[in-house]
Amino acid sequence: MSIKPDEISSILKEEIQNFDQTVETSEIGTVIEVGDGIARVHGLQNAMVNELLEFPGGVKGMAQNLEEDNIGCILLGEFEHIKDGDPVKRTGRIIEVPVGEELIGRVVNAIGEPIDGKGPIEAKKTRPVENVAPGVITREGVHEPLQTGLKAIDALVPIGRGQRELIIGDRQTGKTAIALDTIINQKGKDVICIYVAIGQKASTVANVVGQLEEYGAMDYSIVVAATASEPSPMLYIAPYAGASMGEEFMFNGKDVLIVYDDLSKQAVAYRELSLLLHRPPGREAYPGDVFYLHSRLLERAAKLEDKYGGGSMTALPIIETQASDVSAYIPTNVISITDGQIFLESTLFHSGIRPAINAGISVSRVGGSAQIKAMKKIAGNMRIDLAQYNELKAFSQFGSDLDEGTKATLARGERLTEILKQKQYAPMPVEEQVVSIYAVVKGYADSVKVESIGRFEKEFLDFMRSAKYKEGVLNVIASTGKMESDTEELLKQAIAEFKEGFQG
Ligand code: ATP
Ligand code: MG
Repeated sequence: MSIKPDEISSILKEEIQNFDQTVETSEIGTVIEVGDGIARVHGLQNAMVNELLEFPGGVKGMAQNLEEDNIGCILLGEFEHIKDGDPVKRTGRIIEVPVGEELIGRVVNAIGEPIDGKGPIEAKKTRPVENVAPGVITREGVHEPLQTGLKAIDALVPIGRGQRELIIGDRQTGKTAIALDTIINQKGKDVICIYVAIGQKASTVANVVGQLEEYGAMDYSIVVAATASEPSPMLYIAPYAGASMGEEFMFNGKDVLIVYDDLSKQAVAYRELSLLLHRPPGREAYPGDVFYLHSRLLERAAKLEDKYGGGSMTALPIIETQASDVSAYIPTNVISITDGQIFLESTLFHSGIRPAINAGISVSRVGGSAQIKAMKKIAGNMRIDLAQYNELKAFSQFGSDLDEGTKATLARGERLTEILKQKQYAPMPVEEQVVSIYAVVKGYADSVKVESIGRFEKEFLDFMRSAKYKEGVLNVIASTGKMESDTEELLKQAIAEFKEGFQG
């Protein structure tokens, strides 16, 4: 048998092509100190910030402080078995979490591992937890509404898709309730919701998941939980993990709503691990970069241009204040990063005004352009009426001798305050909000007793949902977002007809 020279060369070429170079190098370091979820590792000179490191037993770590002869690293997960001298492997990758459709309906921890007992998550993709926020060129102004279903918010502090609106208040003022109602209200609106629970009790998180399931909201939601019993590194990265899961949908053109409940606890966790990493403490013992902690997270919320998919991520961060002190370090930071804030007050909450929103100081700096026209038309008057009412109320408490004008303003204000009250888990479609606020703002409820306003609203809405007016009023507002004069006339006629049969 003879082989021709050119055959030999082709065989050789083929062999070279198929030669798979499988030499793998990995840098291995050693643990020199470990405790409180922090490890110091020697021998990983080339590690990157936020690089994923592997510890014995599959425990993941994240490189944080890169010092000359060692690196400080935070440990994610069970770290009790790690001891001095253990090997640590570099992976060359930034820490990542699974992302995609597969996570919908699931409850995961801060590194995307399922904790709901429903089996493994077969996600096809991962994303690094830290990501540079979309740049200005790829962004578009906020212009589509994100309906919360809460009258006091949709009317007075409207939120647009891609906006960052802070929910701030003392403990037990209904902060979580607002976020949950907003998630429940997204049913059928093609918005994917992510609820990130940070530093809450596991039982509280279980309750939230239970409620979301009950209202069918888990079908389009992901819950990321880092509970109070977990080590501080998990609390620190949970919001970033949630943001990465949201970005996957946003960059694919979907609308996302993400709730961070709450960022005060994330800041405390970050302070704890920074102190353990021997970073110098600053104001209130927080490290110097605590502003960056929240700014780089909230910058990731965006409304993208159509050219870039047109997706959006709306963020509702929550901050808990101590004795209503909004001038503390973390509250002022987050107030300055967000596009508006909803202030909740315990005094209002306990006097029965729920949601306990202080309309006077709550703002939404960009949401107005996203409000539907019909709502915008009536909400402007309401803000002024409410402000006047609150001013007069303060000093009319002592005088009994009031002129007619003042009495009328007070009466209107009382009814407006009443109509803005709303039960939990009862979000309202925007067209129903419009008609019920319209009736009060235009004075049609002035003759109704304050304590009957709730019943007035309920019965009036039932009346409006009847065949006679649904088509001409509710459906028109819902589909066009507007209330033209013919619709308004029909609404007035409906109110007059309803009032004839209303006892109150
Ligand atoms: P925490 O500081 O403990 O996180 P929070 O500010 O998140 O509290 P929530 O847990 O939302 O407050 O609400 C506190 C309590 O008030 C809950 O029992 C909740 O059911 C109730 N609540 C909240 N909103 C309303 C509402 N609109 N109507 C009636 N009850 C409400
Ligand atoms: Mg809460």
